Amino acid sequence: MEDCIFCKIISSNSIYKIYEDNWTVAFLDIAKDVDGHILVVPKKHVKNIMDCDTDTLCKVMDAVKRISNHLIDCCAYEGVNLLNASGESAGQSVPHLHIHLIPRKKKDGIDAWPTFAGAKYELETILERIKM
Ligand code: 5GP
Ligand code: ZN
Repeated sequence: MEDCIFCKIISSNSIYKIYEDNWTVAFLDIAKDVDGHILVVPKKHVKNIMDCDTDTLCKVMDAVKRISNHLIDCCAYEGVNLLNASGESAGQSVPHLHIHLIPRKKKDGIDAWPTFAGAKYELETILERIKM
């Protein structure tokens, strides 16, 4: 897609790509907020998880798993956080599906899990609203 920054990165020779296969690319996030902050994206332009077909999503998650195993087996990391924002209301700023992959070590001091303010409704109320 012409106007999409991630589509441009996918078709470029960016030196920040850390992984590529037929369906996916992974590259360093420009934010430099955490060492090793990686974005894993499908080569196919899909907006978010709602927009993504199952095959593409499986390929993305397969790449996420490969990269995670590499980080732990070969790069001395001990765990990973996976984060995704799907939709503007969820904080998605780039409308091309991406999984944030944050490599973790014990006592690295990274707070990758937000502290929520607390639920407003009883579980039963929410269950009635969202049960499939
Ligand atoms: P979101 O807010 O959609 O979950 O995440 C978008 C991410 O894309 C942000 O972490 C942001 O730093 C990253 N990003 C935005 N523009 C670029 C870019 O041009 N290059 C790279 N490598 N990352 C980008
Ligand atoms: Zn795109």
